[in-house]
Amino acid sequence: MKKIHLFWIIPLLLVFTLFFVRLFGHIELDDVTPGIPCKYSLIQKADVLWVVPNFENNSIEKNQSWCTKLLSLNKTLGMHGIKHLYWEFGENISKEELKLGKEEFYDCFGTLPEMFKPPQLKISSKNKELIKSSNMKLKLGFNQFTHKVYHCNDSDFIKNRWIEIF
Ligand SMILES: [Zn+2]
Repeated sequence: MKKIHLFWIIPLLLVFTLFFVRLFGHIELDDVTPGIPCKYSLIQKADVLWVVPNFENNSIEKNQSWCTKLLSLNKTLGMHGIKHLYWEFGENISKEELKLGKEEFYDCFGTLPEMFKPPQLKISSKNKELIKSSNMKLKLGFNQFTHKVYHCNDSDFIKNRWIEIF
């Protein structure tokens, strides 16, 4: 009998701990870019906005009113891929491509990105080195797991309404 209790108590404790870590931690929002519809309520509740610099050849720097509006919200901003293609950073990205993306970010917000999250959290070891050498902190699965991360178009396999609950 005692053994059965222990068997359940440990995973339950872990789930409870994770629940509270996610409940009281900062909130993130992925896929923020002018070409992807995003509920304003989602943008408002997030502490960290993950911005795509050039979604479908629609560079954020060309939309200065969008940049100003986002900046005025005083959120932490990170770079989320360059074009947000599927498994974009699973394929090797050149230094120049990354530099262009960072410049688009800079021309929009006036600061260089200090954090990077690859689309679908997928990144090759070569690209990992590239991100590190360009002075950006890489955020991957552990960060996603320990924080509530919403998606602008609710595109993730884990839906926003589930994130709301857990
Ligand atoms: Zn994304």
